[in-house]
Amino acid sequence: MSKKSKNLEPNTGWDFDPAPEKVPVEIKAQYDLFIDGKWVKATSKKFFNTINPATEEKLSEISEASEKDVDLAVKAAAKAFGSWSKLPGKERAKYIYRIARILQERAREFAVLETMDGGKPIRESRDVDVPLAAAHFFYHAGWADKLEYAFPGLKPKPIGVAGQIIPWNFPLLMAAWKIAPAIACGNTVVLKPAETTSLTALRLAEVFEEAGLPPGVVNIITGAGSTGAALVNHPGIQKIAFTGSTEVGKVIRRSVAGSGKKLTLELGGKAANIVFEDAAIDQAVEGIVNGIYFNQGHVCCAGSRLFVQESVREEVLQKLKFRMRSLILGDPLDKNTDVGAINSAEQLKTIQHYLSLGKKEGLEMYQNAGGTPKKGFWCQPTLFEDVAQSSVIAQEEIFGPVLAIQTFRTIDEVIQKANNTPYGLSAGVWTDKGSKIFNLTSELKAGVVWANTYNKFDPTSPFGGYKESGFGREGGIHGLAAYLNLEG
Ligand code: NAP
Ligand code: MG
Repeated sequence: MSKKSKNLEPNTGWDFDPAPEKVPVEIKAQYDLFIDGKWVKATSKKFFNTINPATEEKLSEISEASEKDVDLAVKAAAKAFGSWSKLPGKERAKYIYRIARILQERAREFAVLETMDGGKPIRESRDVDVPLAAAHFFYHAGWADKLEYAFPGLKPKPIGVAGQIIPWNFPLLMAAWKIAPAIACGNTVVLKPAETTSLTALRLAEVFEEAGLPPGVVNIITGAGSTGAALVNHPGIQKIAFTGSTEVGKVIRRSVAGSGKKLTLELGGKAANIVFEDAAIDQAVEGIVNGIYFNQGHVCCAGSRLFVQESVREEVLQKLKFRMRSLILGDPLDKNTDVGAINSAEQLKTIQHYLSLGKKEGLEMYQNAGGTPKKGFWCQPTLFEDVAQSSVIAQEEIFGPVLAIQTFRTIDEVIQKANNTPYGLSAGVWTDKGSKIFNLTSELKAGVVWANTYNKFDPTSPFGGYKESGFGREGGIHGLAAYLNLEG
């Protein structure tokens, strides 16, 4: 591995008072693959760049793993499975606790790196992504020696080698969601992060080294979609866990069919966030903002369809626009920033395509005024008013800071409208009445329903979808079951 590294200074020069994070993070000029506990050169000898989407500055070169490298990683994981799966649960737990603690100790470094590589505001990577990633390791370390208690009367056994593929919106957190339950249950792992955001997964490999995790238990291979496909198709894999788009999820499901591999898919979403007239409106407005503008709307469970009861439409809209104007878009490393950079030029193009479609449909669009920085990829918080069910803005996942607003009169009407989507990942309900909450949680076809809150995550709580949002759950006991053979 190249010794060349650089300390990257955070950006300055934005047109508001900047208070950027000053912690310098060492980023190597090139990263190799982490296979069998060692950093190895990709046999392809190919690299691709990862950039900071807020500055378009190149951060590092990432190795592109070939089919041969995937094979080496799977073989290393298969070899490690022999001893890791036989290790008593309490011994596995010790490594996983260590990983969790090191993540906590290095939290600031991870937060800065995540923000630089992916564009999310430092406030979010610092307060959400990194602490939650550590929490997932802590939580699953606790289960490692208690699997018989989790599944009484059954004999839980690890499955084997898990191939795991993750997206770019929560790079470290998704790696933690996948790796922690897999290794707690005695499986071994080959994980591929997304092309634009590999740096924190690679740094997590450094944490595994520091924790003394036995070689081959977790292997990190980087690359593009073809690397992911090679992993999915490798015969030495017993379980595939994929988080990403519905489109790629369908491809994976087809290629796994008949192979005997276990599969869980966490895919896209188009969640309904429902505000009733009896809700605490100010709180609901906060929930709407958090639901759609958190992480620039690059959130599978984002509350991207807002349903407002007709009688409070004017009040909600007025308060929402007022609140939107207070959102600060800019340098993601500034702790005052609310809205960071769009993850890539490609994703920005997708979002802009939807904005022009909405305008072409004649929808009323409201977007925060104020410029965007000259370099980087940006989209101001946006909403479309009085969107029809048939509008493409209400139907397709935009994966950006774009809200589609619809109104309703009755509870039956909103249930029907909310469920009228091919997705079924999440939903939100804002009301003063517990009975309405219970009614809606049973009627809405969504894996997660938040009541009077939104985008709250916890390792104890299972997360996953229905319909085209995928199947299988991550988190809680349900998440453990996905990594075990459970026989009586
Ligand atoms: P994506 O294009 O499906 O990519 C996801 C991952 O799969 C990336 O690592 C990608 O590599 C890889 N990949 C691409 N083509 C592949 C193939 N043919 N076989 C195997 N792997 C392949 O999705 P994305 O654009 O990164 O992420 C956004 C999507 O993820 C959204 O739809 C969002 O809703 C969904 N998501 C869902 C959840 C959930 O829990 N349900 C959570 C987060 C995100 P490259 O990066 O190189 O393309
Ligand atoms: Mg990047």
